[in-house]
Amino acid sequence: MQTAICWFRQDLRLYDNPALLAASLHGKVIPVYILDEKSPKQYEMGAASKWWLHNSLKSLNSSLNDNLNIYNGDPLVILAKLIKRHNVSAIFWNRCYEPFAIQRDKLIKEHFNNLNVQSFNSSLLWEPWEIKKSDGSEYRVFTPYYRKGCLAAPSPNLPVDKPAALKLIKDKGSIYVDSLSLLPKIKWYKSLEPHWCAGEDNALEAMNRFIDQGLINYKKGRDFPATSYVSRLSPHIHFGEISIRHLWHTIFSLDNDNDNVDHFLSELGWREFSYYQLYNHPDLPEKNLQKKFDKFEWKENQDHLVAWQKGITGIPMVDAGMRELWQTGYMHNRVRMIVGSFLVKNLRIHWKHGEKWFWDTLVDADLASNSASWQWVAGCGTDAAPYFRIFNPITQGEKFDPTGEYIRKYIPEIAALPNKYIYAPWTAPLAELNKAKVELGKDYPFPIVDLKRSRESALLAFQSLKSDKNV
Ligand code: FAD
Repeated sequence: MQTAICWFRQDLRLYDNPALLAASLHGKVIPVYILDEKSPKQYEMGAASKWWLHNSLKSLNSSLNDNLNIYNGDPLVILAKLIKRHNVSAIFWNRCYEPFAIQRDKLIKEHFNNLNVQSFNSSLLWEPWEIKKSDGSEYRVFTPYYRKGCLAAPSPNLPVDKPAALKLIKDKGSIYVDSLSLLPKIKWYKSLEPHWCAGEDNALEAMNRFIDQGLINYKKGRDFPATSYVSRLSPHIHFGEISIRHLWHTIFSLDNDNDNVDHFLSELGWREFSYYQLYNHPDLPEKNLQKKFDKFEWKENQDHLVAWQKGITGIPMVDAGMRELWQTGYMHNRVRMIVGSFLVKNLRIHWKHGEKWFWDTLVDADLASNSASWQWVAGCGTDAAPYFRIFNPITQGEKFDPTGEYIRKYIPEIAALPNKYIYAPWTAPLAELNKAKVELGKDYPFPIVDLKRSRESALLAFQSLKSDKNV
């Protein structure tokens, strides 16, 4: 009987895992996870992602009856040793699309060209190189990309079954998940624990919960951060605990003529579009897609950046979002846009600082979605928010957190303020502040910038780029 390696990466599941299925059909299987911290360079996994990965690997290992082989180091060296030790004749993996992963995997494929080495798609609905305009060029705007490109292409493949039987091999050189040291000594991640359960079974449960409770009002409800109409599936999707094809086909089959279904699927489309952009522009995490932004004068203000990171800007809707992120490893999408706009427009701090902070603190940190979204917020991406779109955190709060529930949850020190002042405490008369036991500057800060003035000065600064057609 032949032996194959199934190299797990961002596909930490057994169902709809084409690489695992191929390995099981080949013969005995060595299931492998390698923590490769060198290849990603500055995009080494952030702290919140490492916490998630730790739990996800434990779950996968248990699904494989303790047979997951775990290593830390250079994948090429580790695979070469395994091949020799176990007389391996095939390696199978599911594709990753980060530029460093593409480069690394290409080298590995070339290196082992005497073996049967195959990669599969298991994390995207459509391969980025398959979606092109009729003239062969790249789509740069989401709606035509999704409607004319993706939806007109053959529909995503159906999921493949879990292997019926697996003859697994445990290698003596494998280490324990704990030995990867993914968890820091200081247990800051304790605050994340009540909010999440990693692993394939929990991902499926989260999908079913969303179908029962969230999807029914997704299109409208998805904008209200205090409600639970979004799926919160993003970390499960990022680590491949749930198959994107399984998710797509499950939701599609419910009722493809329904606005909520259609809208949810289009959000999966935004994820595809992020990967599409990353594939076509490997420097997306680093460089403005619109080159005219290269000469934009961002401000360097460490105090403002730290206030933003800690959720002490004095603007409640911004602070609530940043504290949600710190406490739970997640931030609602509406609020991601609000805090992002505040950072790059009102504070005029470079979007890369925001991208970096999110990278370290989000449990769903994803190179494609994070960098494409930050470029969207900053206005320098392909199909980005126009420069004059500056979210007003006060009116955004009034509209999308109308009872102030979200703000009160994350900023308890101002919870007793009446709704009229909860979005802008500095406008409250002293009597109201006293009644609510809020002393501004002591219990909660004054705003670090004047919203109106900073908006006007951002408009002027960004306007100067308008005439420059050099994209
Ligand atoms: P739902 O509304 O339930 O959507 C379902 C799934 O669709 C999500 O899990 C996600 O995979 C995908 N999706 C939804 N909206 C988007 C979007 N705008 N762009 C790309 N995919 C989307 N998403 C990440 O997964 N990782 C990131 O690192 C990330 N960084 C972001 C940074 C900024 C500044 C902004 C504005 C958005 C970012 N997003 C990121 C996109 C989006 O905010 C999250 O995907 C979403 O909030 C996850 O919550 P959910 O699973 O409940 O989403």
